[in-house]
Amino acid sequence: MRKPKKIHDGIFLIGGNGLTGPGDCLIYLIQSSSGLILIDCGLGEDINRLIANIKALDLDPKDLRALIITHCHIDHIGGGAELKRKFKVETYAHKYDVPAIEGEKLAMTGATLYGTDYEPFKIDHVLTMEKGEEPLDFGDYKLVCVHTPGHTPGSICVYTDINGKRVLFAQDVHGPLFEAFGSNITDFLESLDRLIALNADILCEGHFGVYQPASEVKNYIQRYIQQYSNRL
Ligand SMILES: [Zn+2]
Ligand SMILES: [Zn+2]
Repeated sequence: MRKPKKIHDGIFLIGGNGLTGPGDCLIYLIQSSSGLILIDCGLGEDINRLIANIKALDLDPKDLRALIITHCHIDHIGGGAELKRKFKVETYAHKYDVPAIEGEKLAMTGATLYGTDYEPFKIDHVLTMEKGEEPLDFGDYKLVCVHTPGHTPGSICVYTDINGKRVLFAQDVHGPLFEAFGSNITDFLESLDRLIALNADILCEGHFGVYQPASEVKNYIQRYIQQYSNRL
């Protein structure tokens, strides 16, 4: 198994990509003065390894305070119920994906594609994001959630400016788009434009890795704008 990796000050890759089970998305951890923040939590079949990876960074999993869900797919949310049982972690997700996460629209989670059961859990902070953005204050880390619909209706991305760098967590920039997910190609392309405009220095992506500097971030997102524009 691989070891967790520091990406930038207080920001680590702790799951997916050989760090935890093969079904997991990439899972990122932010070490803020208000506690540990997870961006997504994987399929849920390898939570013990995820916890071990937090300890391997000399951090205490009991300090987990927040789980920010980027969207309702099982490879991003499956571990949520167990994490809530084990730790005092409060969950955040966009209102359009909350019904899937809470178990009302299970088809949207993609659980059948993964051939695994999904255990729903409650979202403590439903993000309405009426202005398209919502700031979250975690002491030294100010996170901004941006509504980026398209892959699913309630997909969000999160960015933070820390020590001279803008770090963007944008999980499923590659898609795919499926009717069962509630995908919408027009929304998706608009969201990708929004991501480009953020001018991030570091992109923490959900399946393929970390991209930097800013020119690489742009190239990566641009590639999918081209690919999906051709389908319109
Ligand atoms: Zn997805
Ligand atoms: Zn994904």
